[in-house]
Amino acid sequence: MSDVFNLPELPYSYNALEPHIDAQTMEIHHSKHHAGYVSKLNAAIAEHTELHDKTIEEILTDVSMVPETVMQAVINNGGGHANHSMFWELMSAGGGGNPVGRAGNMIETQFGSFDGFKEDFKKEALGRFGSGWTWLVADESEKLSIMSTANQDSPLMQSLMPILGLDVWEHAYYLKHQNKRDAYVDTWWNVVNWEKVSELLDAALA
Ligand code: MN
Repeated sequence: MSDVFNLPELPYSYNALEPHIDAQTMEIHHSKHHAGYVSKLNAAIAEHTELHDKTIEEILTDVSMVPETVMQAVINNGGGHANHSMFWELMSAGGGGNPVGRAGNMIETQFGSFDGFKEDFKKEALGRFGSGWTWLVADESEKLSIMSTANQDSPLMQSLMPILGLDVWEHAYYLKHQNKRDAYVDTWWNVVNWEKVSELLDAALA
């Protein structure tokens, strides 16, 4: 039987985000960490065929469909799969600059300015103790919020739609930045794919 979930290919080469994110970090992050989440997710759901035709987003949005015995494994590894799949798409070699489209307008309106937004987002990223993610999420009332989650927990589990996410696990930055998470956050803005953020927001609010 083929695998239910598969590791997506990166939409660019491992060195495409240099110098902001180094090639070695990208390669280990994608081919070891993300691949590990995918294989453990497949193992967790192998016997639960009722989940095999669901997307990982559908499962995380309603985790009560997952049998208790494998629920935490699906939250951890399914979250890891969903979060990383999105993360790769949210970066590009030609990224950076200012937010565009509806996302750009909503960030300006709801956070006062892009600089103010970046400041709040960084504060949230540095405030996350241990491993986790920092997010910009949209809710059904079209309100944007900055939040963070522990481990690989997805905002989808709280019915929030992630449109931007930053991996703040040490594996995402340790080789280049060691303990300096703030330097990683600062440089990451240079690779953010705002076109993709805008696309995700349009889809979330459609
Ligand atoms: Mn990661």
